[in-house]
Order: sequence, then C-alpha cells, then structure tokens
Amino acid sequence: MGEWFGVAVRTLGCKVNQAESDAIATALAASGAAVAVEDDAHVVVINTCTVTGEADRKARKAIRHALGLPSAPTVVVTGCLAAMDPDGVASLGDRVIVEPAKDRVAARVAAIVCKPDAHQPVVTRAVARGGSRARVQVKVQDGCDTFCSYCIVPYARGAPRSVPAAEVVGRVRELADAGVAEVVLTGINIGRYDADGVTLPGLVAAVAATGVPRLRLSSIEPGDVSEELLAVAGSTPSFCRHLHVPLQSGSDTTLAAMARPYDAGTYAEVVARVRDALPGVALSSDVIVGFPGESPSDDETSRAFVDSVGFARLHVFRYSARTGTPAAERADQVPASVKAERAQAMRATGTAGAARFLASAVGSCAEMLVERVVPGERSATPVVEGTTREYLRVRAASESARPGDLLPVAIEGPASDGVVRGRLVV
Ligand code: SF4
Repeated sequence: MGEWFGVAVRTLGCKVNQAESDAIATALAASGAAVAVEDDAHVVVINTCTVTGEADRKARKAIRHALGLPSAPTVVVTGCLAAMDPDGVASLGDRVIVEPAKDRVAARVAAIVCKPDAHQPVVTRAVARGGSRARVQVKVQDGCDTFCSYCIVPYARGAPRSVPAAEVVGRVRELADAGVAEVVLTGINIGRYDADGVTLPGLVAAVAATGVPRLRLSSIEPGDVSEELLAVAGSTPSFCRHLHVPLQSGSDTTLAAMARPYDAGTYAEVVARVRDALPGVALSSDVIVGFPGESPSDDETSRAFVDSVGFARLHVFRYSARTGTPAAERADQVPASVKAERAQAMRATGTAGAARFLASAVGSCAEMLVERVVPGERSATPVVEGTTREYLRVRAASESARPGDLLPVAIEGPASDGVVRGRLVV
C-alpha cells in the first residue's frame, strides 16, 4: 500500500461547474484516489469560473489560498479561467498545474499522487456539498455561440455541443436507481441541446421515462422556450413547474446593447405562453443593472418590466466588465455608486415579486424534497429544509423526515432569509 494522499475538489461559479466537479470527484474515486478536505489535501483541484472580472478575482484568491495551506498541496487548476488565461494562472506559483480539460483532470491527479489503497474511504467536498444527493445536476450541454456583448463564455467554452441522449438517460437511470429524487438538466445554454437530432423536448421526454421522481431545467433562454418544449413539460408529471428564464434587462435599448436576441415584448409573450401551458409555474430570472450606457430611464423601464412580470425569484447582478468582451470596451461605463443604487432598487422589486408569489402559494399544499436536517436545539423538534417543485425553500418540523424524502407540505408563510415556513401533512 502506498502513502496516503488526499485530494480536495473546490468549485467556483455556475451549476455546470458544480456538475463537472461532481464528475471529476467521481473519476478520482474510480481511479482509487482518496479525496479529502482542503486543509489535509496533498492535491487541491480548483474548478474555476471567469464569467466576470469578479469571478477571476475569486478564482485567483482560491488558488493563492490553496497554495498557502500548511500541507503545501499541488494545485491543479481547471475550468474557464484555466482555459482563458493559462499563463496567468501558471504564474501564480510553482506548485500550480493548469489543466483546462476537465475530463483530463483525474488522470493528471493520478499522475501526481501515489495511488492509495483502493479501500481507502472516499469523501469529497464536491460530493459532500450535495449533502444527501437528494438533487443532482446532470450536465447535458456545454458551450454557447450567442455572443452576448458582456459574456466571455462563448470565448471560454467554445461552440455548443451536447452529451448524447443515451448517455444522459443512462446517468439519470443510475441516479434514480440510487434513490436520487430530483435531477436538474444543466448546461451553459441547454436550449441549444441537439444530439444527433434529439433536441431538448425529446431529451426531457427520454429522461422522464427513467421514472426519476422530479426533473428540472437549470435555465433556459427565452428564445428556446418552444411550443414543443412546453407541450412536453405540461404533459410530464415529473417536470417541476419552475423555469429559470434569464431576462438580463427589461429595457429594449439595453437588451439591444447587450446583443440579447429578443426584446421585452417578446419576453412577455414567452412568459404568457409559459403560464398558459404550466399553470402555477414559478418563474425565476437574472437581471443585470448598470450595463454600459444604461440611462436612468432605461433602468426605470427595466425595473418596471421586472415588476410587471412578477418573478418568484430574481437574481440581480451589477454589471462587471469582462476583459475581451465588446461591452468592456465601451467608454460609457456606469459608475460603481450608480450600479449599487440600481442594484438595491432592483433587489427591492425582486423581493416584492417573490413576496407576491409566496402570498399566492400560502395555504396551498406542495411537495417538498427534504435536503437537510437543520442543526438546532437538541431538545426541540428537528427541523428539515428542502425545496418544492416551484423552487420555494421550505422549513418544517419533523421527527422522522430524512434527506431525500418527498413529502406533502402545507405552505404557511415566510420565515426568514427567503425561506418559507411549512407544515408537513401526514
Ligand atoms: S446566451 Fe449569452 S449570456 Fe448566456 S452563455 Fe451564451 S453568450 Fe453568455
């Protein structure tokens, strides 16, 4: 038996990165590597993101942090920053190894570490992060060629490509057999899914046929919400009535400057079709404030549009210039203080929309996927937390519920931090 070597996997950025880190951890485990927490690791794998300048900063910070750990690990850097700036990443330290191809990371690690005993227990941060593995992200697609003017992804990840449907179905079947209650089909732009003629509606139908109890899409661009997709979603009981449809701005002027391929009117039509096809659906979205050239009136228009849609959940981002994109070159950047004010106002609008959605749900019965037991007082009745099909985060008291359980829950009202109070219905 060789000396013990620990490997830790750290993930930054999006759900696609998380899914890819899970795959790296699985490959590491299969190759016999024993995976540890970062502080004990001899090799730290960092799966980076480069979607904004801020993401770059966080990735570099994570690399420096890993290099400074007492165990002096070798740091294997993969992901978007490794692809976009390999020399810059390599220059961060002698112990940095740059491997942009995620499917080669496990082999690179295996080449570094002495192979430990195959019976070594394997615990990974990436896997542990999923807790009970009640919900698992399954990556079905990568890349994008839309070239929105603020986004580095098409340069960092390249053109769209899809995982063959049979492979996706096989993976979901394995997960369902292992007791996973929900799979989230994830990709950079999953509306572009096309594997040998199977497009997203066909993939959804094929995945649903595995019998996995719940099925969700991570995000779908407005232009990809087709009638065919809505028809499949509406007739698939396991399809969760929640769609995340990125808006980015409600102002036509800003949308055009962003090179987003739709205007607010088209987006509103998509919303109407979704609500028609999937009654009770929860819509969530992303919006950027302070895009270069965004005037006070563009900002107001955007906010009014967001308010009129009434999202169940809204993620607000301050525009952050990403070197290498057209938007970053613009001279009419919005000052940071203005971006902060607009973000605050937009968040308030988002919070009001979420409150309206919650108010409409109070008194209804939903299905909760239990994800964790909330640590609390020893003497009190345990509290469990999970999500409904509509992606409401719910807490409810229960002596017996366990992560992975699907249970009926009555929605009672807001608790705190965006979590909803519920009562399990026995
Ligand atoms: S659709 Fe636009 S924002 Fe989304 S990944 Fe593609 S280029 Fe980036």
